Amino acid sequence: SSFEEMNLKEDLLRGIYAYGYEVPSAVQSRAITQICKGRDVIAQAQSGTGKTATFSIGILQSIDLSVRDTQALILSPTRELAVQIQNVVLALGDHMNIQCHACIGGTSVGNDIKKLDYGQHVVSGTPGRVTDMIRRRNLRTRNVKMLILDEADELLNQGFKEQIYDIYRYLPPGTQVVVVSATLPQDVLEMTSKFTSDPVRILV
Ligand code: AMP
Repeated sequence: SSFEEMNLKEDLLRGIYAYGYEVPSAVQSRAITQICKGRDVIAQAQSGTGKTATFSIGILQSIDLSVRDTQALILSPTRELAVQIQNVVLALGDHMNIQCHACIGGTSVGNDIKKLDYGQHVVSGTPGRVTDMIRRRNLRTRNVKMLILDEADELLNQGFKEQIYDIYRYLPPGTQVVVVSATLPQDVLEMTSKFTSDPVRILV
């Protein structure tokens, strides 16, 4: 398959090619269309498979740029990963005037507040700081329609289970959920069964 066949927005397609991607990877071929349809997705995929661009393209296709509140929330286990994801979203969305902020520990809370008050279509963060920003009401969740849990097995290994469940409770009912995980141990399966409905399962 090709990126053209995915019926993506013209400015998103331009961003994908400008970033140097020509052909979708296996997980991209199988998951992007499902994400764009609004399906919940559980993708068993490791780093190096193109997983980040998979959900980033799905997000960029689905968000409404005219709505300034956060519409997609990506949680990952490390600050470095959250920033890498932010950079991929910004690069692929380079022709779209997208606002994407990394909400991570160890950075200025004042800057988070400033960026969130301005309006961020997408937030990529670690669970602690994201919880903090939701509780302070600077991260408004009423327009969130997608939750991405990247490296879900690592998120749980790092002890973020309670924070993730807390965050989930703030999201509107019916929020689309995409789970990416290298492995699917019992605690990940338990979380996905709570958060997803009729998910598409993809193994790469
Ligand atoms: P990830 O699995 O998200 O860690 O991505 C692994 C690497 O593959 C990154 O360097 C991506 O930029 C690259 N990549 C992802 N999708 C594609 C693609 N369709 N074509 C070429 N490179 C890609």
